Amino acid sequence: MNTFRFSHEPIDAAALRDTLADPACGGYTSFEGWVRNHNEGRQVSRLEYEAFEPLAMKEAERIMAEAVQRFGIEHAACVHRIGSLAIGDMAVWVGASARHRHEAFLACRYIIDEVKHRVPIWKKEHYESGDSGWVNCERCAAPSANTEVAHTHGDASHAGHGHATSSHDHEPRDQGAHSHVGHDHGAHIYKHVPTVVPDYSRQMALKEVGPTGQAKLRSSRVLVIGCGGLGVPVLTYLAGAGVGRIGLVDGDRLEPSNLHRQTLYALADVGEQKAVLAAARLRALNPDVDARAFTLHLDADNAADLVSQYDLVIDCTDNFSTKFLLNDVCVQLRKPVIFSSVYQYEGQLQVVRPEHDSACLRCVWPEATRDGLVGNCSEAGVLGPVPGVFGSLQALEALKVLLDLPGQLGDELLVLDLLTLSTSRVHIRRAASCPDHARSRASDAQRGVAGTGADVDLEVQFDSLDDAEAQGFDVIDIREARELDEVPTPSGTARHIPMAELLHGAISLAPTGKYLLVCASGHRSLAAAEELHSRGFGHVRSLRGGVAELGRRSLI
Ligand SMILES: [Zn+2]
Repeated sequence: MNTFRFSHEPIDAAALRDTLADPACGGYTSFEGWVRNHNEGRQVSRLEYEAFEPLAMKEAERIMAEAVQRFGIEHAACVHRIGSLAIGDMAVWVGASARHRHEAFLACRYIIDEVKHRVPIWKKEHYESGDSGWVNCERCAAPSANTEVAHTHGDASHAGHGHATSSHDHEPRDQGAHSHVGHDHGAHIYKHVPTVVPDYSRQMALKEVGPTGQAKLRSSRVLVIGCGGLGVPVLTYLAGAGVGRIGLVDGDRLEPSNLHRQTLYALADVGEQKAVLAAARLRALNPDVDARAFTLHLDADNAADLVSQYDLVIDCTDNFSTKFLLNDVCVQLRKPVIFSSVYQYEGQLQVVRPEHDSACLRCVWPEATRDGLVGNCSEAGVLGPVPGVFGSLQALEALKVLLDLPGQLGDELLVLDLLTLSTSRVHIRRAASCPDHARSRASDAQRGVAGTGADVDLEVQFDSLDDAEAQGFDVIDIREARELDEVPTPSGTARHIPMAELLHGAISLAPTGKYLLVCASGHRSLAAAEELHSRGFGHVRSLRGGVAELGRRSLI
C-alpha cells in the first residue's frame, strides 16, 4: 500500500499506522510535522495550508512510488492537512513499513523531504500581531534553520530479520528526540522586518490607479511562464506593484550563463530551481504577494489546469512549442495572454485577448513555427538588457490590462530593433481560418454561449447533403483539394471552394444566397460561416460535425 492524500480533517495517526501493519515487516517508522507557535522570531497564532491538488497529487504519487522503488519498503503512506490549522495540530504524517528498520527510516525521511520540496503546497502564517503572510519555505531545497519541529519516532525492528510474526514494537515516544528539518531558503538572506510594510504610494498617486486600482491588483492572479530573461523583469514589477497572487512556472535550474540577463539571481544560487529562487525573492520584495512556484515544464497535461487558476498569463519562454500551447489553451479558456519573443537585438510583443475576440498567435503564424527555426538565447546570443526591455513592456501591458488602462496594445504586433532603436507596429487581424478561434467558437456553440459575431445559430444538421440541397441549400465544400482526394464530398452537385479562396479570393457569391458550408469536422465551416455572416451573408450555414458526421450517419 503506497498512498498519499490531503485531508481537511485532523490526522488520525493510530488509524494510519494500522494500515501499514504487515506480519512480513520488522520495522515501522513514522514522522509527524506539527504546527509550531513561532517562526523567525514572530509569534504564530495559526496556519493555513493550501494545495493545488491536481498537480500536487501527481507529484506526491510519484514520490511515494520512488520511495518504494529506491528503498524496497513494503508499505508507505503520507497525509498532509490542508485548510486552517491550530498550534499543535499535526500538519503532515508519513509512515513506512519494511522488512528491516533501515529501509523504513530511509524511506520515511525521503518521503517527507521530497514532499516538502516538490509538492505545490502553500503555507500562510497568521501572527499574534494580527497580520499574516505566505511563507512557503517548504519547497526550498537548501536545508537550514527550523520551520517545523519534526518528531520522529522510529521503533526498533526486531533483530530477527524477516520474522514472519514480528510485531510493531513501539517504544514510548522519546520526547528528547526532536530533530529539526525544514527550510527557509532566502529567509536568512532577506530577514523579515515586520515593521516595514509595502508602500504603493508612488503608483497610487496616479489618478488611473488610486486605491481602487490598488485593490484590483491585490485581487489579481497572474501566471508567469518562464523565470528567465523576460520573466525576471515581469516578476519583479508585478510583485512590486502588489499583484495578489503570482504563479511562477519554470522547470530549469539556474546556470551561470543566465546571470548576465536574469538579475533576480546571484552566483551563489547556481544549481537551484529558478521558480523556487524567484518566488523566495518576490516574497522578500513584497510579503503581500502569494508567490507560488511550479518547478515543471508546461505541457499539454498541465497547461489547462494551471491557466484556469489565473486571470492573466504572461509568456516568458523562449520556445515556440510552449508559446503555441499557451496560445491554444488561453484562447480555449478565454484568458488574456501577453507574448514576447526576443532574437539577438530585436524582439516583438503581442497581447492576445480571447475574451475580446482579438487576433491570436495562430492568426499571425498559421503554420506553427518549429523550434529551432528561430534561435533561442543560448544559440543566437543576446545582450542582457534586450529581454529586460521586452519583459518590462510585458509587465507594463499586464498592469494596463489588470487596471483597465487606456492605450493597451490591441490587434497589433509591436516590433522593436534595439540596435537601431527603430520601432514598428504591424496591424494584425483575426483570421477566420485560425483553428483556435474555430475551436473556441465551436465549444461555445456546444455550451449554448452566443458567439461574438452572430446571434443566430449558424450550425445545422442533415443526414445527407441531398437533404440539404432538397431544402434549397447551395452546398460548398471548403476543404483543401488533398482532403477531397482522401474523402470526396458525399454529393455529386456540391461545389468545391477552399476556405482561403472563399474568404480572401476573388470568388463572388451573392450575399442573399442560401449556402451550406461543409468541412471535415464542422469547425472550419463554422468559422467561415461566421465570417461570411459578419459580411452580410444572411443565409449562410455550417454543417455540424462536417463530412465525418455524415459518414457516421450513413452507417446507422
Ligand atoms: Zn487565432
